[in-house]
Amino acid sequence: HIEIRNVSKRYGSLTVLDGLSLTIKANEFIVFLGPSGCGKSTLLRMIAGLDSVDDGTISINGERIDNLPPGQRDIAMVFQSYALYPHMTVADNMAFGLRNISLPAEVISARVAEAARMLEIGHLLERKPGQLSGGQRQRVAIGRAIVKEPKAFLFDEPLSNLDAALRVRTRVELAQLRNRVRSTMIFVTHDQIEAMTLADRIVVMNNRKIEQIGTPMEIYSRPASRFVATFVGSPT
Ligand code: ATP
Ligand code: MG
Repeated sequence: HIEIRNVSKRYGSLTVLDGLSLTIKANEFIVFLGPSGCGKSTLLRMIAGLDSVDDGTISINGERIDNLPPGQRDIAMVFQSYALYPHMTVADNMAFGLRNISLPAEVISARVAEAARMLEIGHLLERKPGQLSGGQRQRVAIGRAIVKEPKAFLFDEPLSNLDAALRVRTRVELAQLRNRVRSTMIFVTHDQIEAMTLADRIVVMNNRKIEQIGTPMEIYSRPASRFVATFVGSPT
């Protein structure tokens, strides 16, 4: 499990997160839902180690990770922009994160092949990112995370660059992927339908704080505040 305890983040005089606490269970699919600027990406980046934690602690299975460099956290992040290396092939992009953890070459290529099969991009392995569609790039970005076999996956609005139809299809595929890759998944979005369909539990964030944590059903049928009700579109 991942334990976020009393975590705060400030940029100068701006407090972005204020004493946030949350325990995420092993293999849980957690969705952070909230309006633009409420600190969702900042929180993910702190879990991944790309932003420092000003106050509080983050632990995985009882061990603190907030003071470890990103490479030692055993966490994989999928960005909204996919962040692929344009000069590398799809296969090399997927293998890149494994190069510096001294795995045998056969293990690396087996993992890449397996992830590519799962994501149906096996025929694209020798292409460069520039020769792919947005949806294909997005699969490569997910594949790059899968091959690391991390303790947790962090997704920062990975579907937001896709057109509406592809977005729906990919959402369904993510739900299926989730059943095959048994791992903790933390997914950020401001799309309530994505949150409702993917989440075991939704964390509704607003204004530096958690507004409510609950299953999609709880959030929808028993919103804890007017903000939550409005944001998830509950009947009033
Ligand atoms: P969105 O849905 O638009 O992606 P978000 O919830 O992911 O929003 P964050 O990117 O976490 O929001 O940003 C939270 C707040 O922190 C915003 O007010 C943002 O302007 C501010 N912020 C983020 N990064 C920095 C930075 N490097 N320096 C100063 N302020 C920052
Ligand atoms: Mg963001």
